[in-house]
Amino acid sequence: MSYSARNAVRVAVATEKPQVAPLPRQLPSELFGRDVFSMNVMRDRLPQAIFSRLEQVIKTGGSLLEGDADVIAGAMKDWAIERGATHYTHWFQPMTGATAEKHDAFLTPLLTSDGGSAMINEFSGKMLIKGEPDASSFPSGGIRATFEARGYTAWDPTSPVFLLENQNGKTMYVPSIFLSYTGESLDRKTPLLRSLEAMSQQALRILRLFGNTGARRVNAMVGAEQEYFLVDRRYFKLRTDLRLAGRSVFGAQPAKGQELEDHYFGAISPRVLAFMAEVEERMWALGIPARTRHNEVAPAQFELAPMFESANIATDHNMLTMEILRTTAERHEFACLLHEKPFAGINGSGKHNNWSMCDSEGNNLLNPGSTPSDNAQFLTFLAAVLRAVHEHAIALRLGTVGAGNDHRLGANEAPPAIISVFLGEQLTSVIEGVIAGKKGGKDASSWGGGVMEVGVSTMPPLPRDISDRNRTSPFAFTGNKFEFRAVGASQSIAPANIALNAAVACALDDIATELENALKKGQALNSAVQETLARLFKAHLPVVFNGNGYAEEWQAEAAKRGLPNLKDSVSAIARYSDKEVMDVFLRHGVLSQREILARQEILLENYIKNIHVETKLTCSIGRSLILPVALGWLKDMGETAKTVQSLAQSASPAPEETYFMRLRGHVTGLMAALDDLDAKHEQLDAMEGSGVLRRAEAARDELLPRMAACRVHADALEGMVDDDRWPLPKYNELLWH
Ligand code: ADP
Ligand code: MG
Repeated sequence: MSYSARNAVRVAVATEKPQVAPLPRQLPSELFGRDVFSMNVMRDRLPQAIFSRLEQVIKTGGSLLEGDADVIAGAMKDWAIERGATHYTHWFQPMTGATAEKHDAFLTPLLTSDGGSAMINEFSGKMLIKGEPDASSFPSGGIRATFEARGYTAWDPTSPVFLLENQNGKTMYVPSIFLSYTGESLDRKTPLLRSLEAMSQQALRILRLFGNTGARRVNAMVGAEQEYFLVDRRYFKLRTDLRLAGRSVFGAQPAKGQELEDHYFGAISPRVLAFMAEVEERMWALGIPARTRHNEVAPAQFELAPMFESANIATDHNMLTMEILRTTAERHEFACLLHEKPFAGINGSGKHNNWSMCDSEGNNLLNPGSTPSDNAQFLTFLAAVLRAVHEHAIALRLGTVGAGNDHRLGANEAPPAIISVFLGEQLTSVIEGVIAGKKGGKDASSWGGGVMEVGVSTMPPLPRDISDRNRTSPFAFTGNKFEFRAVGASQSIAPANIALNAAVACALDDIATELENALKKGQALNSAVQETLARLFKAHLPVVFNGNGYAEEWQAEAAKRGLPNLKDSVSAIARYSDKEVMDVFLRHGVLSQREILARQEILLENYIKNIHVETKLTCSIGRSLILPVALGWLKDMGETAKTVQSLAQSASPAPEETYFMRLRGHVTGLMAALDDLDAKHEQLDAMEGSGVLRRAEAARDELLPRMAACRVHADALEGMVDDDRWPLPKYNELLWH
């Protein structure tokens, strides 16, 4: 039976929905962390002194003693082998955006005393600490010359080792950083760790000013809400565009989209729930605190949210979560789509990056306090975030770039590309009060807005949930954390958090320096803080926007306020090498200039490759699937129209003729549009040598609109050609299971 849209529906109707045997149910608390070589396991299995030294390294940085590494590696290996592991791998995050691994068996030949050899299970400290994958095929943006193609991976002890299982056995995963032999970062974990270190150092300066001598470190805490689509695998397999590019380059609007809003928070279907339950169990076993699951706005769209963790672990865990979603979907005969915009005209998927700062004693520094001095400190950190977002908006925007996300940002479903901050009315009036800041502090009961003396008056309690209702802001304060909502669903959260931590580190540095200088000059802390905050809040108030970010007027208003609006990825990436953007990363050594320029090039190359793949898909699907069917239909309809005309003999065209002409218009339109796209694509392919930015701009300006032009005709044809012939599963089938 050949494929047609209608056949697909017949098959679906005739066959039962796939049934997957449920896994044995276990309580989350029992299952949690089963496959993790966690602190608790290490405490049990390591000699006390070694454990203490390792704990020290994990908490405050530094490196392990070589002897200790051997003991730790031995304990890890025993633990993994007891659980059935046969292989180990360093697991890292190259600039491809995916994770990478290269498995080695726990197997080393050992010369025996009689001159023979035996195989033993070996895993030494050296093997733990350093791996050497052949790195020549990972993007390096020119950092690695081909004659020195090697890179090496090194264990990140702050992220625990874990076991992953598939039908063919278990492998021990060692979370690692990935460096070139010259020590440059080729990955996303290294700069993330550096950014965390930078932010910690600067935040501690502020804490010390406020008399906190106990905290040893300040960490960024992150909870990443993950949106995704599930489509039936049988249809997915027939959509080469979804399989290869993650998004459909053709597809007419379905009869029913999201307009009824009946999917959002709707009852979860049993088939999807079975999938979600398995995803969660796999996450819990890996110590990933999955907590919330629900239907999202678009049909077939869902969301999963874990509880927040330290940013480094949350990043690793989000990479694993995406992998678990994809592989579990296969078992359930679904395909999980993580692309930011799999379906035109239907909401896309994002990733809300909830972010806060927490000191080593467990205090959330973005928690408004109940005493005047707590408030002064809270307001100082708040000012730092406002300054970071205002001054370094382009750096933050760079944390969200990608060809996929361009279809989503600013498309009335996700925040615009203008990075502004939502604070909510109460908090905004508090900072306005600080700006007004006359003497004569008031307490909470009498505080009525208007005036706020830092360190003396208390803030009114902030209603937490009200602040979350503005979904149109890219960067919203939601009670005790900021929610960065511009990250795309398929993207690593590392770049967004690297930018955020680096930008906040710069702002904290500026503020700490100013306060320290004032104190040196003999000014009292309260008055120095009052002055500094009043000035900062005044300077950065323009980045605060509590209104509707989707509204047309906001674009004009934001321009008036001087906020950058980098609407597409290429325009944003082009700014990466601006001096003031580079400074955000250079200032505290988060990235070197060479690393930045390499990243800029990799991002642009990646953008170009994505658009070229989509172009090739548009051409091949358009020419080899849609056109033949449309031409066949045109021929049949032509004959019908001719018959009708000869029967009617009338002067005015019969409806059949009108239909035929319209059909022909779209068929010839599609042919012409495909030719045009093809020609342009060839021309751009030949541009190879001319700078990467120019090629990216050309892909954006020349290919994207031409693909859209093909689509207009193809999607119109979809609505005209007999369903029995249409060669692609339609949105109706993909979106409603
Ligand atoms: P909201 O309703 O504001 O979206 P939720 O409680 O549903 O808040 O949390 C959304 C995400 O934010 C979750 O991943 C949660 O763990 C995370 N989160 C909550 N508090 C913090 C915090 N202090 N820092 C970072 N993330 C947090
Ligand atoms: Mg949220």
